[in-house]
Amino acid sequence: MSEPSVVVLTGAGISAESGLPTFRDKDGLWEGQRVEDVACPEAFARDPERVQRFYNLRRAALDTVEPNAAHQALARLQQAWPGRVTLITQNVDDLHERAGSTEVIHMHGELRKALCTHCGNRMIWLDDLHGSTLCPACGRRRGLRPDIVWFGEIPYHMERIDEAVGAAGIFTAIGTSGLVYPASGLVHLAKSAGARTLEINNTQTQVSGCFDRHLIGPATVQVPRWVEELIG
Ligand code: NAD
Ligand code: ZN
Repeated sequence: MSEPSVVVLTGAGISAESGLPTFRDKDGLWEGQRVEDVACPEAFARDPERVQRFYNLRRAALDTVEPNAAHQALARLQQAWPGRVTLITQNVDDLHERAGSTEVIHMHGELRKALCTHCGNRMIWLDDLHGSTLCPACGRRRGLRPDIVWFGEIPYHMERIDEAVGAAGIFTAIGTSGLVYPASGLVHLAKSAGARTLEINNTQTQVSGCFDRHLIGPATVQVPRWVEELIG
């Protein structure tokens, strides 16, 4: 029999020990900001410079952090597992890629990409963004925004995600609060497909009851442990 396909869903908790704060831990604020002020289309329409400034800081912070043992263990799993491994992340950082993961599905977009609302082009973007920044593709101003899926927008790659999760033999959610839809619903899809489900988190979550099994503790300890268990 072939090895079961593995689907891993990661959230902000996997990057916490690298030094990137999570989102919901402190009163539902992200770096001291309310979601309604920085992470929704209405906020961008109201005060684009404030939103750009927030993401410029998040993007710059990526230069100061490194992937941790949990990101590295998942890259190892992708290389060593004889079956299919699909890595889905809600994170907008690039720590999975920097740990050596080649295929990462960023359902909420990426800090190091910009999207032009005039021409629809997406591009790698490492510098700050401002209203006056010229789009290199169409030459127009006031169109570039962070390529981030804001609250109220539709996550990327949902067809591909549903297909992979619907075929999962093992589904593992790591460092996610399970509060952000539709990522939070993926465990149910996995279960209906017959997958064994595992939650790795440093604490119980509101959705812990949906999982068959739990590894409670820091991701840098529990993820390498789980990967060792799978690939030895
Ligand atoms: P969340 O912040 O809502 O929840 C984080 C979860 O990780 C919590 O359940 C917490 O208990 C757990 N956790 C914290 N530290 C941990 C550790 N060391 N080991 C294991 N678990 C740990 O995160 P979410 O569910 O991903 O939703 C947040 C949203 O905000 C996402 O959509 C994401 O795009 C965005 N965000 C991204 C980043 C990032 O890219 N690094 C950081 C903050 C927020
Ligand atoms: Zn453009």
